[in-house]
Amino acid sequence: MSDGNRKTRVSRRKLLRGGLGAAAVAALGGVAGILAPRGRTPRMVWQLDPLKCTQCGQCATKCVLTPSAVKCVHAFDVCGYCELCGGYHQPNAKNLDTAAENRLCPTNAIVRRFVDDPYYEYTIDESLCIGCAKCVKGCTSFGNGSLYLQVRHDRCMNCNECAIAKACPANAFSRVPAETPYIFKGELGRK
Ligand code: SF4
Ligand code: SF4
Ligand code: SF4
Repeated sequence: MSDGNRKTRVSRRKLLRGGLGAAAVAALGGVAGILAPRGRTPRMVWQLDPLKCTQCGQCATKCVLTPSAVKCVHAFDVCGYCELCGGYHQPNAKNLDTAAENRLCPTNAIVRRFVDDPYYEYTIDESLCIGCAKCVKGCTSFGNGSLYLQVRHDRCMNCNECAIAKACPANAFSRVPAETPYIFKGELGRK
């Protein structure tokens, strides 16, 4: 590849990441909590810390809702846009394509899109995601760890006692202020 081509591709990746980052902010920001009135105790909601989560799978099975209020989200600025994605492909995938036998997600909730040789973008269709954490485990073990779980506040009923928090073996659940209801990874997590 010539230097010119390489520069073009790198700058396209940067541009892509910037755009997707903004989209991710909008998507999660759109369901952010309500600001507490001055002088009042802030309202608290449940959230899980992605750095504590061990991807045990109980987020999918213990929530009082079916499917779970926990969904996979993607820190695009951390993603390597890999052709072989530890979160998308089975570890023993015969081919690095979209065939059902090569995919890891049990509900086909991850959409793979070719961007530019050799880069692929992975987005989550939340309506299909059951929060099973299989992709998170794969991405954490064999990739950059850009896929992670979050309680989605457009679904969560904010139960007084969260059934997942009780079951979580990693103690990853806690109450956070409703005005900052997500624990982000990547650039958003540093803000
Ligand atoms: S129950 Fe805890 S450790 Fe298990 S997937 Fe959920 S947050 Fe992660
Ligand atoms: S593997 Fe599980 S957590 Fe990941 S997108 Fe599919 S259903 Fe959601
Ligand atoms: S608070 Fe209730 S609805 Fe929300 S994640 Fe926990 S069990 Fe599910």
